[in-house]
Amino acid sequence: MSRVILSVLLLLLSLSNAAQKRQSAIWAGAMLDVVEGKLVNDVIIVIENGKISKINKASNKNQYKDIIDLSEYTILPGLIDCHTHLTNPYFDKSIDVYETAIATYGILGTLYAKKTLDAGFTTVRDVGAVFYSDVALRDAINKDWIPGPRMYVSGKALTITGGHGAWANWMAPHMELKPNPGFPVDGKDEVRKRTRTLIKNSVDLIKINATGGFGTSKSIPGASSFTIEEMQAAVEEAKKRGLKVAAHAHGADGIKNAIKAGAHSIEHGTFLDQESIDMLKEYKVYLVMDLLAAHVELIENKEDLTKKQINQTQSELYQSYAANFQKAYDQGVRMAFGTDASIFEHGRNAEQFHLMVKAGMKEIDAIRSATIVAAELIGVEKNTGSLDEGKWADIIAVKGNPIKDIRVLEKIEFVMKEGKVYKVF
Ligand SMILES: [Zn+2]
Repeated sequence: MSRVILSVLLLLLSLSNAAQKRQSAIWAGAMLDVVEGKLVNDVIIVIENGKISKINKASNKNQYKDIIDLSEYTILPGLIDCHTHLTNPYFDKSIDVYETAIATYGILGTLYAKKTLDAGFTTVRDVGAVFYSDVALRDAINKDWIPGPRMYVSGKALTITGGHGAWANWMAPHMELKPNPGFPVDGKDEVRKRTRTLIKNSVDLIKINATGGFGTSKSIPGASSFTIEEMQAAVEEAKKRGLKVAAHAHGADGIKNAIKAGAHSIEHGTFLDQESIDMLKEYKVYLVMDLLAAHVELIENKEDLTKKQINQTQSELYQSYAANFQKAYDQGVRMAFGTDASIFEHGRNAEQFHLMVKAGMKEIDAIRSATIVAAELIGVEKNTGSLDEGKWADIIAVKGNPIKDIRVLEKIEFVMKEGKVYKVF
């Protein structure tokens, strides 16, 4: 008897799942309209085939049978992080990269992807991974084998000999590895060939290291690396296939070189000067400043800067980074939300919002940077970034009002991605 009841229950459950796939509805106490920058009270969102088909006032809520009751919550569009490394365990010092198999990065990525989705991030732009672990993770998520945010991935970032992220930097000359996607490229022909290879292997964008970096031995963050001509070769090849180019750049010279070469975004921007701010505006280039990673590295971990040619203490460097963030914001640079997750534990991404507010950004603009602005940078603004009819049903919920208290975004109670519920309070 009990077995019969169980079968009937399972049948009903599968039918209701199928129904949910076709049509469902959410009743929300409030909805954040990120474009207008205001809360709209008591709404019904109707979802069909993963998309928002209708947004109504809640007065007609009785007509929906299987309505998801979020009447105690505020809903907003799924968040977007434009700078993650979802297959990178850099924060976890117990993992020795010299003893880690390639497959391990993919396996770790499945854990990190779930944490990131649970934190309310339904989309990420992933800008640098070991081999093609990011491509594999993206495809596994798209096939619904595992839960995770929708990913747009770059594969391994391009870098010069001796550059940021060049694996050979850690090796004595006789130990250098044979050419592989982590191997540096020099000259426009090598850059062109590597870019074509990445595109052949299904990346969604190109990442290029225009300056040195903090995490790589023998690399100087303030020093520029690729020439303008070398980066132009990457931009040209990417453009043929409709791909964008993200440029890692700390020093002002490298920032300007990347902008002149046609990069679409500057990642980090640590040593921005007035001229680079002017150029970001003139060339309409997005700026992605990872305040949370900087805070973790400089304030929490007190990273050793002695070999980095920086005449500031860790806390002075963080303060000047935050001051540059404010300067760029005050002058109207398009700023997209990106955290460099992997420097800190995946899933902490939303902690960056309050650092942005502390650095002078209005709460609503911090949320816009992780929704409409981020969607524009990735090129998916027609499908996500705001709650509008016709867009993907990427919907998250929090208690309270995020425009008044930004830290409510650190506690996400509900996550839906393309109409499928992944997390319920
Ligand atoms: Zn990064």
